[in-house]
Amino acid sequence: MPAQLLDGKSLAERLRQTLAERAKQFNARTGRPAGLAVILVGNNPASEVYVRHKVAACEKATIASQLVRLEASCTTEALLSQIESLNNDSQVDGILVQLPLPEHIPEKRVIEAIAPNKDVDGFHPANAGALFTGQPCLKPCTPFGVMVMLEQIKAPLRGAHAVVVGASNIVGKPLAMMLLQAGATVTICNSKTLNLEEKTRRADILIAAVGRPSLITAEMVKPGAVVIDVGINRLDSGKLVGDVDFERVAQVAQAITPVPGGVGPMTIAMLLQNTLDAAEAASLS
Ligand code: NAD
Repeated sequence: MPAQLLDGKSLAERLRQTLAERAKQFNARTGRPAGLAVILVGNNPASEVYVRHKVAACEKATIASQLVRLEASCTTEALLSQIESLNNDSQVDGILVQLPLPEHIPEKRVIEAIAPNKDVDGFHPANAGALFTGQPCLKPCTPFGVMVMLEQIKAPLRGAHAVVVGASNIVGKPLAMMLLQAGATVTICNSKTLNLEEKTRRADILIAAVGRPSLITAEMVKPGAVVIDVGINRLDSGKLVGDVDFERVAQVAQAITPVPGGVGPMTIAMLLQNTLDAAEAASLS
């Protein structure tokens, strides 16, 4: 396999050690640990796993975490009132509402109820707007993690052509903004994009964030490109794969992320970083 394997698991582990040091220093300076509250509504099995990983990562990094569980049948008002009380709790620096929510609860109202300075998922419109206008903000963890990976391998971004396949509010769009701010020329593709291959073949940096196995084949990749696979798909066989045909694309790319073990572990590391950033900002305000 000629491509360099971008090992997100090891990078995330190193980052988490640095963050654990920062968390200890925060505790020593302020006399309290940084705190993250995770709200889980209902018991979606995938969400249960994600939440468990987030809470465990906090514990390892000596960040105080609390898991707030609400019944799947809870009212929007009950959830909003829980968020309000966490907004006003000075021990809580970060608030994360695990998505998806049960259908009867409007996601937008819930995200907008979180105080922007505690919005460690970076989904609040105030943070999205700040990202859009190049101001300091809490950035969505997955795209933030991708940027840290690119920085780590010193991928030249200024003047590079970055193609982001996928345009969601949580991955594709914020990542496109971050790449743009780093000096890349960015193309964003979505499900309506015509002739996707023609776009992806022009990418020096190719990001796949769709949720469709083998969407990106070797023919769609420019030789020597850096390929970042954000997708997570469970095949009928139970195997976990990304959006990129890994084996074949690895023969063409300069560097590539595996799935699992690529972008995924970075997401949690960036959540810890956002929580510490929020805690430090709160302690200085
Ligand atoms: P989403 O469903 O919200 O958005 C998918 C995007 O892909 C949309 O913009 C859609 O227009 C676009 N799209 C669909 N088909 C396309 C096609 N054929 N060509 C080009 N674009 C197409 O998904 P999301 O929440 O952004 O997640 C995307 C993937 O990333 C999923 O597999 C998800 O599981 C994964 N994900 C991984 C992490 C992580 O930590 N690694 C975090 C978030 C999401």
